[in-house]
Amino acid sequence: MLNWITRGVRLSRQQRWFTTEVSKGFVGAVGNTPLILLKTLSERTGCTILGKAEFQNPGGSVKDRAALGIIRDAEENGRLKPGGTVIEGTAGNTGIGLAHICRAKGYKCVIYMPDTQSQEKIDLLKMLGADVRPVPAVAYENPRNYNHQARDYAETVPNSVWTDQFDNTANAYAHYTSTGPEIWEQTNGNLDGFICSTGTGGTLAGVGRYLREKSNGKVQVWLADPPGSVLYSYLTSGGKLFERTGSSITEGIGQGRITNNLGTEVKYLSGGLHIADEKSIAMLYDILDTEGLYLGASSALNVVAAVELAQKLGKGSTVVTVLCDGAYRYQSRLFSKKWLQSKGLLEAIPGHLIKYAVL
Ligand code: PMP
Repeated sequence: MLNWITRGVRLSRQQRWFTTEVSKGFVGAVGNTPLILLKTLSERTGCTILGKAEFQNPGGSVKDRAALGIIRDAEENGRLKPGGTVIEGTAGNTGIGLAHICRAKGYKCVIYMPDTQSQEKIDLLKMLGADVRPVPAVAYENPRNYNHQARDYAETVPNSVWTDQFDNTANAYAHYTSTGPEIWEQTNGNLDGFICSTGTGGTLAGVGRYLREKSNGKVQVWLADPPGSVLYSYLTSGGKLFERTGSSITEGIGQGRITNNLGTEVKYLSGGLHIADEKSIAMLYDILDTEGLYLGASSALNVVAAVELAQKLGKGSTVVTVLCDGAYRYQSRLFSKKWLQSKGLLEAIPGHLIKYAVL
């Protein structure tokens, strides 16, 4: 007899036969993503370009790991008890990861988000059972910013946690204990560089620190930065934080400050690469054409950066990057000629790839 229990999995004798193959629920399915050899780019460069397929997490993005790490930490510290409420300010993937995990574990979930976000994301969060609260999109310095509103609201709700993805280091720790070791094992330690962009900085700092320590500093860890982010200029100016100027089409990345998750790891970075939107969007279409991978813009930016880093490190080098999520959540923009035109990016797509812009 099957013995399905939705919250907390108890397995029947029959099910025990396949426990090594079967993940226990949503939470058990987070992580252990494939590492994909990007064949065409590797052939073109004479290097080995590898992408960690984070879009294969059950909530569809790299942020499932951070969401799970933060919730586990709150449970272990006794800050979150059964029936409690998880509260976050987020524009996207972290909220979706949290909402999935809250459903799976029986917590309530409240998401404050800027009212500029796509209807697809709002609908998905609602379908997952989250209480979605769109608020005016104002700067971080403004006390009405969505992050501050989430923090303030959490103070009024008993048995609740504000998950604070930017400065709660359980986020980077989740990557230090899962994504980093997975990459090391999947490459057998044979890699020369790791590069990715940052939102909270959890992925870059957590994976970077693990690979740096495990390789005794032999693996170079690099930052990839979009327009409108200050981290590239922070690295190249020897630590000056300039005002944010410009903007990018890449959602979920770019940062105006050194978050707690980036923390001291910034000083161990070997360097940074600034990647223009024209290059990211061209790669997004190129990689769909050559590899059949349907990636979001931050993944495409990461791949451009991985190619440029491999070329810097020399022929035969191996570079790993992160494929953060798929294009599904952004397709009405990224595959719309009208939208691309409005951003001045239609010409950036090579002629033979325009056929993919079908909207
Ligand atoms: N890409 C996407 C699509 C994201 O949503 C995020 C997180 N906001 C990132 C990259 C960056 O990840 P991290 O927060 O770990 O820096």
